[in-house]
Amino acid sequence: DTSIEKNPNNEAVQVIVRCRPLSVKEFESQCTDVVKIYSTRGVIEVENPKARSENEKNKIFTYDAVYDELSNQQSIYDETVRPLVASVLEGYNGCVFAYGQTGTGKTFTMEGGDGADMGIIPRAFEQIWSHIDRKTGVEFLVSVRYLEIYLEEIRDLLKIKSTKTHELRELNGQGVTVTNLHSQTCQSAEDMLKAMVLGNTNRTTGATNMNEHSSRSHAIFQIVIEMAEGDSKSVKCGKLNLVDLAGSERQSKTGATGDRLREATKINKALSSLGNVIYALAENSAHIPYRDSKLTRLLQDSLGGNSKTIMIANIGPASMNYDETIITLRYAYRAK
Ligand code: ADP
Ligand code: MG
Repeated sequence: DTSIEKNPNNEAVQVIVRCRPLSVKEFESQCTDVVKIYSTRGVIEVENPKARSENEKNKIFTYDAVYDELSNQQSIYDETVRPLVASVLEGYNGCVFAYGQTGTGKTFTMEGGDGADMGIIPRAFEQIWSHIDRKTGVEFLVSVRYLEIYLEEIRDLLKIKSTKTHELRELNGQGVTVTNLHSQTCQSAEDMLKAMVLGNTNRTTGATNMNEHSSRSHAIFQIVIEMAEGDSKSVKCGKLNLVDLAGSERQSKTGATGDRLREATKINKALSSLGNVIYALAENSAHIPYRDSKLTRLLQDSLGGNSKTIMIANIGPASMNYDETIITLRYAYRAK
């Protein structure tokens, strides 16, 4: 049976960094690899391609764990996510975030591809159902929701044709819920996979530019697991939030103006508000600023308290992206 290892370093907030390989395009355009990863020490060293002196040349950061371009989906899952999902199966809440500039591997990390390339979300489905299938004496009720926040508006990715609007409602002492959000009951990992695929299709339906849309919205796949033990006197509930965040690139740099720039500002504000919440949690701060964005309000009951959070900061190794890479590493560093 799954049991959580009581590791003294196992804190509620974990920040890890993953660097993807240099792409063919980057390689062909003579980009150099400026990122060095020292996995065993959790250290990343980035070389500034424009450095004019020795002492501004290399920047060094440390995290709970770092993964280089050769690291595989399974080891990231087993080493970081599996214990969090195990605690959700014990009735706790958890969040996994993929953060980073567009094109650094957020979606690859969360969803991935087939077989060995399978990402965190489908691996979580397998872990959950292999637990449920083995467990006796407990009744499980499992449901999923899939939504996105696009420019501070919530869209239900499982019921895209619905004209209902979705608001955040505060429940007395039970956190925040989203009104009119469809909840899909699941009986198997395949059911969950179907919901994920449907939501992904819906995510880009009607978007004029698919890549642009997904790089500007936060996608939240939420799994709710209710467990009734024995005579049903004790009911526990664990909630797992798997979040593919909007691209973190600074929008001012993309040359956006007017409405575009205002939209872009909202995205950056939501990401910085998430960073502030995670930072406050990691610092055990008395005030956690949940109210500053829809994303943090929505996830309030899964951030803090007994919940666990994993922030995966994704970066690319190319010299061309040096500035954005440093910004991501600083964001992730501050989150700890
Ligand atoms: P994002 O969601 O952050 O915009 P993607 O996940 O779409 O980025 O990744 C961009 C491209 O890089 C995709 O073609 C993806 O398959 C590839 N990629 C990302 N991370 C890795 C990795 N660790 N190993 C191999 N290919 C990767
Ligand atoms: Mg993506």
